[in-house]
Amino acid sequence: MLCPACGNILQKLSVTTKQGGRFEVDHCGRCGGTWFDPYEINRIPYHEVMALSQLTVLPKKNINQNAKQLCPQDHLELFPLTGDAVPKGVKLLSCKKCLGIWATQKDLWEFKKHQDEIVSAYDLADKFFPNLSVVFVPALTLILLLFTTFTTITGLQNQKENRVAAREMISGLSVAPMKGNTLAVSFKTAQPMTSVIYLGDSELTMTRIPISEKPATVHTTIVRGLVNGKSYTYQIEIRDESGNNYRSEAEVFITR
Ligand SMILES: [Zn+2]
Ligand SMILES: [Zn+2]
Repeated sequence: MLCPACGNILQKLSVTTKQGGRFEVDHCGRCGGTWFDPYEINRIPYHEVMALSQLTVLPKKNINQNAKQLCPQDHLELFPLTGDAVPKGVKLLSCKKCLGIWATQKDLWEFKKHQDEIVSAYDLADKFFPNLSVVFVPALTLILLLFTTFTTITGLQNQKENRVAAREMISGLSVAPMKGNTLAVSFKTAQPMTSVIYLGDSELTMTRIPISEKPATVHTTIVRGLVNGKSYTYQIEIRDESGNNYRSEAEVFITR
């Protein structure tokens, strides 16, 4: 199958849902776009979206956005998907025959973020409007059933819990830009853990930098080669000796 955007050969990649279910997507390693069979865009967990984005060969090739994009299976023209499930500014293309969906890397990321926000709204509604929940929850549940699956919801909740856990396990975190375009990172964990920092211009372009490669309770590293006056996004990931990973919320700092 060929990429609808750049004509590169799509690569079959297996992705895992939070429940351990597996399915395949067709990914373009050149422009970073992904082709989904019907409804599977709802099943892909956010961390797999991030993993896919890290596979893409950089720098990304410029794509001619005006050219007609064709279904990689049926070679019919793809049309933008509309509806409440697709937020403004996000463009997903769909084939009217096979109902497959094409998403660029950026659109896929934005779309999954939007789904995450719907789930957060659902959490809030449940907490603050208990009397309305009889009306509110079934209505929301219906919307969610139409546009997403419980796999995604549970996945996002697990991810949120995981980030809360990461925050609780990391103490004394200091991420400080220093003179000479360097960054000093230090923190502690109660249990011996290995650790890495993901660092980049945005959540889509983070590089994995090891901190403690052997289990430790004190974690320090110096990252070199930063650029002055620039905004960076980072996440800390720690792994315990049973192999459980915990990843912190993405944070931003600006170098001077
Ligand atoms: Zn492509
Ligand atoms: Zn098709």
